[in-house]
Amino acid sequence: MDFYGDYHVHTQYSDGRASVIEMVEAARLKGLKEVGIADHGPANIGTGVKTAETYLKIKDEVQKLSDTFPGLKILVGAEANIVGLAGELDINNRVIKELDYLLVGLHPYVKPDDLKTAWNYVLRNQLVKIYKGLKEKVKNINTKTLIDSLYKYNVLAVTHPGLKMDVDYQELTRACIKTNTALEINTGHYFPGISELLAIADSGVNFIVNSDAHFPETVGEFDYGSYILTKVGIPEERVLNSVR
Ligand SMILES: [Zn+2]
Ligand SMILES: [Zn+2]
Repeated sequence: MDFYGDYHVHTQYSDGRASVIEMVEAARLKGLKEVGIADHGPANIGTGVKTAETYLKIKDEVQKLSDTFPGLKILVGAEANIVGLAGELDINNRVIKELDYLLVGLHPYVKPDDLKTAWNYVLRNQLVKIYKGLKEKVKNINTKTLIDSLYKYNVLAVTHPGLKMDVDYQELTRACIKTNTALEINTGHYFPGISELLAIADSGVNFIVNSDAHFPETVGEFDYGSYILTKVGIPEERVLNSVR
């Protein structure tokens, strides 16, 4: 399976190691038709963009680049975080409107909007590492807040679903189908794995394969996606960025 675009690329504006132009140049060298810069939302502790307004700066930079890269469409998205128990994200609607697309991912180290979210969501995801008895409760909170965000916002895809923060795959998949959201196959983390995908292979949910590149070297690195989709038997029609 081949892919024409990579929609999950980080730059120095969050925790990526290279500039926008270096990541875009890497996409051109890989022969991609589209590349999407999707830096971490501002709530990521130590790794997010400075403020939501940073995305507007990235957009300005990308607009100036478009003539330099004919034949390559450069998009600006975001990998947003959940900061409220009802699925609130860390990017305001005014900025979201300016983005080409929105990704949502669960990350353990985020600054929540309020104390209730800090306790029920952020802290419990740490405590569950010690108190295994919390596993089901934490999984339910993660699944519910994530699903709420899909109904609240227009989300293109959920990044690395289930990585480091447990979610109910069946429930999430049903919500993705209803809200027309894709599940990401993240080649940077080699995630999800075969067992997760086998469980939802016949559900009808769509997928997108992304690199989650933090370095130019891994932009458009799709081998794991191709391998696992073929292994599990998911056809290219169900993969948003596959070449058909
Ligand atoms: Zn992520
Ligand atoms: Zn990422």
